Amino acid sequence: MRKQELARFRTRLSAQRAELLGHGAETVHAMAGAPGEDLPDPNDRATRETDQGRLLRLRDRDRKLILKVEEALARIEAGTFGKCESCGGAISPARLRARPVTTLCIDCKREAEQKE
Ligand SMILES: [Zn+2]
Repeated sequence: MRKQELARFRTRLSAQRAELLGHGAETVHAMAGAPGEDLPDPNDRATRETDQGRLLRLRDRDRKLILKVEEALARIEAGTFGKCESCGGAISPARLRARPVTTLCIDCKREAEQKE
């Protein structure tokens, strides 16, 4: 896969992850503060909650999706993004565009569904 295309997937997945975690302007605000500084205002503390804390409050479905998004991002970093984890073949670009978190090519996906 070309670097440019990979970068596009990375941007898309990062945005999806941020959205699922409920990040946004709030995070930018939280990151502006110095780390370790005393925070007497509980609202300030709340904005510094870890991703883990947010993750725990999410609905099950969203939590699973975030994990898939993070795995996909890890695969981009590892250079294995777009490779079928079952047969090792390339996943079609159209399939990846429709579902960037997929780990199986269409043939292996069909096979897996038939087994179920
Ligand atoms: Zn496959």
